[in-house]
Amino acid sequence: MLTINNLEVIYNEVILVLRGLSLVVPEGAIVALLGSNGAGKSTTLKAVSGLLPTEQGEVTDGSVSFDGRDITRVDAADRVRLGISLCMEGRHIFEHLTVHENLIAGAYIHGRAPQEDLDLVYEYFPLLSDLRARTAGFLSGGEQQMLAIGRALMAKPKLLMLDEPSLGLAPKLVQEIFGYIARLNAELGTTVLVVEQNATRALEVAHHGYVMEQGRLVLDGPAAELRDNPDVKEFYLGLG
Ligand code: ATP
Repeated sequence: MLTINNLEVIYNEVILVLRGLSLVVPEGAIVALLGSNGAGKSTTLKAVSGLLPTEQGEVTDGSVSFDGRDITRVDAADRVRLGISLCMEGRHIFEHLTVHENLIAGAYIHGRAPQEDLDLVYEYFPLLSDLRARTAGFLSGGEQQMLAIGRALMAKPKLLMLDEPSLGLAPKLVQEIFGYIARLNAELGTTVLVVEQNATRALEVAHHGYVMEQGRLVLDGPAAELRDNPDVKEFYLGLG
């Protein structure tokens, strides 16, 4: 579904952050993208969603293809219409809007009545239904994360990308969020690319994992294999 081929990304015309990255996300899979701070994981998601220009970032070589179409130069809004949705680190919800209004904003790009999609999101996240009239800025961290995922779902993505969904959440909530990710994948067939510091959790739900360092791929394989890999255990799972 998603193919990144030999991608090179530069910020501010000088800082080379991706140095020939290639990876594949097959349709229907959950793929985890792992690596230490600054490896280039968020940059990879921004390159796929078309958000680099907003941060003075630029693809200088290589390509991104989605459903067989080269989207390297397609603008961000059109990528959402094609079915790519990014749930960003730090959540980026509209703090002054209610939960309900945030969700409706997520469907805006398609310009259609979102009732059916709303029902689905409220079914997946009953807590959001209970909180639908609450101003989003007053939600807890875990609730905001659910809202951010719910809002991304309102765009009916074929590919849902999540940047650090467990960041700052208590262990029980982390478990819950990854449970939702697995359910979305199994029941709706949503393909998922997830960036995580919490490699253990990510590799529990993922089918395949990629490990990157300094803008390049250093390791990849089936998630179960990566979980047992001594290097991954030592550097990313804290089990060394
Ligand atoms: P983290 O887990 O810490 O978010 P990451 O693997 O997601 O790390 P990126 O956020 O992609 O890494 O950052 C990769 C490198 O690019 C870092 O050295 C970072 O300082 C740099 N970088 C990121 N965004 C910008 C920007 N807008 N302008 C300049 N440099 C940037």
